[in-house]
Amino acid sequence: MRMDLLARLAEAHGPSGREEAVAAIVRPELEAVCDRVETDPLGSLLGTRAAANGGGTPGRLMLAAHMDEIGLMVTAVDESSGFVRVIPLGGWDARTLVSQRVLVHGREPLDGVVGTPPVHVLDADARGKAPKLEDLVVDTGRSADRVRELVRPGDVVTRVRTLRTLGDLVTCKALDDRVGVFVMLEAMRAAGPSPTEVIAAATVQEEVGLRGARAAAGRVRPHVGLAIDTCPSGDGPGQKGGGTKLGAGAAIRVMDASAIGSRALVDLLESLAVERDIPHQFHVSDKGGTDTASLQLSGEGSIAGCVSIPQRYGHSSVEAVHPDDVRACIDLVAALVERVHELPRDS
Ligand SMILES: [Zn+2]
Repeated sequence: MRMDLLARLAEAHGPSGREEAVAAIVRPELEAVCDRVETDPLGSLLGTRAAANGGGTPGRLMLAAHMDEIGLMVTAVDESSGFVRVIPLGGWDARTLVSQRVLVHGREPLDGVVGTPPVHVLDADARGKAPKLEDLVVDTGRSADRVRELVRPGDVVTRVRTLRTLGDLVTCKALDDRVGVFVMLEAMRAAGPSPTEVIAAATVQEEVGLRGARAAAGRVRPHVGLAIDTCPSGDGPGQKGGGTKLGAGAAIRVMDASAIGSRALVDLLESLAVERDIPHQFHVSDKGGTDTASLQLSGEGSIAGCVSIPQRYGHSSVEAVHPDDVRACIDLVAALVERVHELPRDS
């Protein structure tokens, strides 16, 4: 696996609605494996690989992995302190934002930190309380006048991390869903010929409501849609277990709060995994959501499902995945590209 590419993707700064820096990495990768690559009006990249052999109208498989990460948007710069006030882009747990280094994407990039009062000055009551996101600010260490010159409302703020090996795992911010984008790119490279037209979509604005995939699927009108995204593993500290485990293989996502995977697609993914000896497990939950929902409900609807990379510490700066699971997901998505025509299709 090209871990250097995964690192570049995960370290890049691309919050919802501002995914350009990620797209700049993804576009040449898509161009290398597709016949043509387009950018849609929202900023999603759509790479199309023609069906391998003619004869009849080929089916259309759309893969979708989102380029955006959770981030923050500036609402104001405090008049006297110069602290930067923000609102969330996507689902944050404010506790994970405290004490983080961030980058403010102003007129020039500004390093920032999210600080809180030191423990020495907190009374017992305050020590026991979790902060609220609306109470947190970004400190860039500059005078209020200087910050106001460089930062304006609407600028975005992102987490800063480099990808690191963590024992058997790798950890970084934004693995949700840059690892999914990576799986999609590597699967397109690995897949053999397919009688199906394949559209690999690197989507935008997933974290704020699966928006980019909705527009992209409306354009593509796929027969079959497959989202590739992370899912919460059940084996982190403080968790009760159950659910997926890191290192136990690709997660075939059967259900979450946004979508129920199509039965035929879940069955095909399982049988391909068995046939090709790909380690796999199932993710079944009544929480969370992915681009699957947008793929499934676009136009007249599509057969849709999701392959997920199990992840610890989702939506934090220390998200962690197991490279063996990433490999398994690449193999499973590549298998689907080659064999998706075995699904029933009625158009
Ligand atoms: Zn995601």
